[in-house]
Formats: sequence, structure tokens, C-alpha cells
Amino acid sequence: MRGFQSFAVIDWSSANDTGSKPRADAIWAALVVDGKPEDPVYLRNRDAAMEWLEDLIRREIAADRRLMIGFDFPFGYPAGFAQVITGRASPLDLWDWYAASLEDTPRGNNRFALAGQMNALFPGDGPFWFNGLKADVPNLPRRKPQDMPPNLAEDRQVETRAKGSFSCWQMGGAGAVGGQIMTGMACLAQLREAFPNAISVWPFEPLNGPVAFAEIWPSLVKDAVIAEEDTIRDRAQVLVLARALARLSDAELSKMLDVSAPEEGWILGVGYEDTLRRAARQPRGGDCYALPPGVAWMSVDEAADRLRRVTLQVSGTELVPIFDAVDRVLSKDMSAKRDNPPAANVAVDGWAFAHDRSPGGLICAPKRAAPGVPYKGALKFGCAVRVLTGALLPSGADTVALDEECRVDGDRVYVPADAKLGANVRRRGEDIRQGDVALEAGSRLRPQDLALLAATGHHEAEVVSRLRVGVLSTGDELVDPKGQAGPERTYDANRPMLLSLCTRWGFAAVDLGIVSDARDALRHALDRAATEVDILLTSGGASAGDEDHVSSLLSDEGQVHAWRIAIKPGRPLALGQWGDLPVFGLPGNPVAAFVCALLFARPAMLARAGCDWSTPEPELRPAAFIKRKKAGRREYLRARLDEKGQVAVFPSEGSGRITGLSWAEGLVELPDQAVEIRTGDPVTYIPFSAFGL
Ligand code: AMP
Ligand code: MG
Repeated sequence: MRGFQSFAVIDWSSANDTGSKPRADAIWAALVVDGKPEDPVYLRNRDAAMEWLEDLIRREIAADRRLMIGFDFPFGYPAGFAQVITGRASPLDLWDWYAASLEDTPRGNNRFALAGQMNALFPGDGPFWFNGLKADVPNLPRRKPQDMPPNLAEDRQVETRAKGSFSCWQMGGAGAVGGQIMTGMACLAQLREAFPNAISVWPFEPLNGPVAFAEIWPSLVKDAVIAEEDTIRDRAQVLVLARALARLSDAELSKMLDVSAPEEGWILGVGYEDTLRRAARQPRGGDCYALPPGVAWMSVDEAADRLRRVTLQVSGTELVPIFDAVDRVLSKDMSAKRDNPPAANVAVDGWAFAHDRSPGGLICAPKRAAPGVPYKGALKFGCAVRVLTGALLPSGADTVALDEECRVDGDRVYVPADAKLGANVRRRGEDIRQGDVALEAGSRLRPQDLALLAATGHHEAEVVSRLRVGVLSTGDELVDPKGQAGPERTYDANRPMLLSLCTRWGFAAVDLGIVSDARDALRHALDRAATEVDILLTSGGASAGDEDHVSSLLSDEGQVHAWRIAIKPGRPLALGQWGDLPVFGLPGNPVAAFVCALLFARPAMLARAGCDWSTPEPELRPAAFIKRKKAGRREYLRARLDEKGQVAVFPSEGSGRITGLSWAEGLVELPDQAVEIRTGDPVTYIPFSAFGL
């Protein structure tokens, strides 16, 4: 008999309709055709699942491919059960009985009532138990009965070898399978009727037809499922299992199928767990981000959160002249030393007068008021005085008319009749009052802030000591860009990049050079850094390899706050501490080092320098690209806006492609759970300017 060319796996559910949005505890299906996996499909209810299955069976038969479909519920009950219900020991007769007896719609079904009816056929209180409904159901105990029918086992034979499986008698509660079995068997019976002679059910029938149904159990490949990093476990399970079945050789599969369990059925792969697990594991090498099984990955958000919690501000402060204070961070609130403006002054060139005046012309006062040269004395009633912008408002005047709106005739000036009281006058303190806070502690001083400080009477600012950031490259292969480099050597690209990033962000960048891949040398460099700088950025050696001393030294002799972070590019990134010195063990690849410096090191450095935690302001833009990614990790692509304002990405994602970094003007951030981005989809674009670059 020819082998199978397509494999589908269904994670069944007894839930009612689960809605239009893909979610856990729903029905999920995955398909691998001729070795090629397709994206898992979310099926919101059993009607949708049946439609999907019927289409699939029809299509695969038409394409002349043999199809195996795995379902994750038992195909039979413990021996003796079917006989009592149908009068025959045949499990497939029981399937037909369910198809005839179960009323199942997307809104609900009668599985609890049916369980009670079947219980009535047995002595004792069981075998079925658990009632998910408010109302009592005749003959269905809410708890597991003491008094189960004799001669009926709790589990099938195969379950004694599949640790952790649930009893088919339990009708509800977390993880229970009782309802899935009933709804599942009923549906499979209908499929058999819809495709007469096409479907054979393992292990009850010889697999002669074009389609085979088999019972599978995702727990057998648990490690590979975890390694998928999918938040929806059911989705990962179906994909992993379908892929694993498709990878088995015909001989391996034949062996697994060679089972005798004519009444209870069997779980495919039990007895051959190692073979199945090997097939389930992603082959290494293809994707350098393939994750080791069983390792929990931390999300970018969680890593940033941890970082925020452990990051302390440096303690020192100093007084600096405001002329030197740009980019420094205020260590305390700065209040206005006097009102601004300190007294009412004139906003335009024109004529100042008292609004409350007699109609007709005003007499021109002989002198004028200019900035810095106030009008002496008080303006007499019925007079107006020539004023220039910035002059103090002469006493006796409260309103100013614009030059162009006045008419001078000899010694008289005619101001507009409709001039408003107080027009063109800047009131004392209208900008800021003495004692009001002009700038808050934590403000990073920008040029315009220096103007405010000066205007409110300050010539110095009390600021947090300038953060000293050490930058260190690690790797035996590295040479300084001015050195001679054979093809086996790599120019140290990270140091000039990271040092200048720090300078841009207003920190004192301290060049700590290159350190070889030797534990002692690195320890020495870390000790030195701890005495010289407030924060350290290293690059390279942060992974888990033989020469990855940064991560191993930090975890052995320092602290690691976050390491396996679900981000691309960025793995490996070690956020840790050497004594009190925060250390950012950035990846060696320049692209990854750059992205991680922006995302993690920058906010932490700013916080350590006294600023609030900063998150860059993204823009939502249509994508000018197509992209598929793994769910469960955040990805950043080098990007820039095209002439239409859409986001274009650099054609290569290689982490070593520095040209792309230089080409880019920002990053696109693809959310953890996204799997597919199509042209026109709105995506999050973060221009480098949002990172202060
Ligand atoms: P590592 O993280 O040490 O495994 O390094 C990953 C890759 O980045 C290797 O190809 C290194 O040669 C490269 N790399 C590490 N540090 C630097 C650097 N400072 N400049 C350029 N490439 C580097
Ligand atoms: Mg290295």
C-alpha cells in the first residue's frame, strides 16, 4: 500500500462557537501537503470544522494524495462500554450511535443529558460524571462517584501508558475530554457517511482507503510545542504534530500503525515516543532562532519592565552654568526667580494711553518709552506717548495702539476708537509668576529650556552628574578599525557606533577598547569598568556558546536580569549587573547591537541619568512590504518611508548587514503575535528621531 502524502491534525473542542477571533480552546487544524506545512487554521465551531474537513477530504482525493488525519480525542472507550450502549462491541457502531443521538449546534448540545441517559444503562452512579449545567441532569453525578460500574475500567489500556491523559468519563472541568469524545465521534461518523468507502479508521479497520483517521495526543510532543513559542498552544500543537507525522518515514509510520486494539483504540506513537519526538523537533540550523525545547522566553515588554524596576538613578549632582547645561538632566525643580515679564511692557511699536479717555485726539507727550529706557514720570490724562516694542508700559497708560492704526496730526494723535482695554500690553507675570515651577526635576535640558531658565533669572542649573557609559567590544576576531586586518579578522564596528550613540544622548562615553574572548581578561575589564563608569555596554559574547564569556561570567559571578528575550534581531542579549554596575551584554552583530541599544540601553541609561523612562513615539504607516514571521517574538526591521509615506524595509534581514542599518531611517516593529504582514497593513514605524537620533 502506498504511503501518505498529506497529513492533517485537528485539535478538537467540545465548546460552543468560540467567536471570530482566533483563541485557545477552540478547534485548530494544521495541514502538511507533500512535506510543506501550511499555516494552522482556526475553526470557530464544529460546523466550520466539518466544512473544512469535507473540503480537505474532497480535495485530497481529487488530487490523488493519500491523506491521514489525526484527531486528539479517543476513538474508543474502555472495553465493555460499547456493548452496553449499542449491543455490539464495535467502536464504530458507537460512533454511529452518537451521530444519531447527539444534538449538536454552534449554540449548544445535549451531551450532559446524553451522558445521564447512558449512565442509566449501568449499575452504580457512573460511569460519566461532572455536570457543566446549573440544572441537575438525571443520572449524571456532579462529582466522581464512589460507586462506578463494576467491570468497566477507568482508563483504556493505552492510557496506562500515556501519563497525564484524562478519563473519558469526566464530562467537564479543565482538561476534561468526555465532551470532546462524544462530539468528535458523532462528527467523524458523519464524515464516514459522507464519503462512503473512502475513510478507514485506525486501528479498527485496515487502512485501505485514500483517507485514514488516527487518534493522536499532543502531549507526546510537548517539548517541541513549547519551543514553538506560540501563545496559543492548540495552534502550536496541531502544527508540530502534522509536521512530525509528515517527517516520519513510511517504515516508521507503518511500525507505529501496527497495533492491535480492536475495541478501545490506541494513540498513534505510543510505544514509539522517541521516534515521534525526533520527528517533531525542528531541524536545527535552518533558523538560528530555533529555540531549545523547554526554555521559557521572555517578551520584550517583560524584559523592559524588569529593567525599569532594577534601574536606579546615579546619585551625584552638580551645578553647571546654563551655557554648558544642554542635554543635562535637572536634579531638582527649577522655579522662576521673578515674574516674567517682570513688569507690564509693550508688545508693539505704537502709542500708549489710558483706555478711559475723552473722545477725539490725544496730546502727544514730548518723550518716548524705549526698551531699557522707561518713560519718566506718569502719563497725564488726555495724553498718549510713543512706545517701542519691549518698553515698560508708562504709568498712567493701560492700552497700546499699533503705529499703523494711529494718525498723527501736529501735536495730536488719533488712536482707533474701538481699541480694547489692555490691547498690545504684556501683563506682568503673564508668562510665569515668581516661585512657579519653570522646569521639573528629570527634564533633559533642551536649548529652549535654557532660554526659560535664563528668562526666569537663572544662570546655573543643578543637574545630575553626567552619566559615564563604558563601551567595550569582545571577541578574539576583532581589530580596531585603524589596525591591519586579515580576512579572519573583523573590524570593530560596534565601538564607534555605541560610543557615538552615547554622546548623542548626552552621556560621557568612555572607550574601554576591545577585550579578547578570555574569561579572566573580561573579568578584569568588568572590574575596571565598575570603578570608572556608571553603566557598561558590551557587545559580543552574550550567547550560550563556548566563547560567550559575557553571559556566563555575569550569570556565574554577577547577576542576569533578563537573557532569553523573544526579539529579533537581538538574541543573544544579556541584561545584568556586575556588582552595582548595570551591564548591557549586547549582541555582537552590529545590527542587533544597534537595535538593542536603542530599545533597552537607551531608556535605562536615560533613567539612570535621572530622566523618566522613555518610550519612543511610533507612527502607524501602511506597509510597503510583505513579511511572514513566527508568532511569539517581536521583530524589528530596518526601514524608511518611501515617497508615498509607506514603510519600506531593507531587502535583507541578515543581522550582519550593516549597509541596511546605514540605509534605514527608522525601525518597523512587528508585534509578538503577528505572523503575516501584507502590503497596505498598518505597521508601527519608529523613526530614529524618536530615539533621539
Ligand atoms: P557574538 O555575539 O560574539 O557571537 O558575535 C556575533 C557576530 O558579530 C560575529 O560574527 C562577530 O564576529 C560579530 N561581532 C562581534 N562583535 C563585533 C564588533 N564589535 N564589530 C563587528 N562585528 C562584531
Ligand atoms: Mg564573539
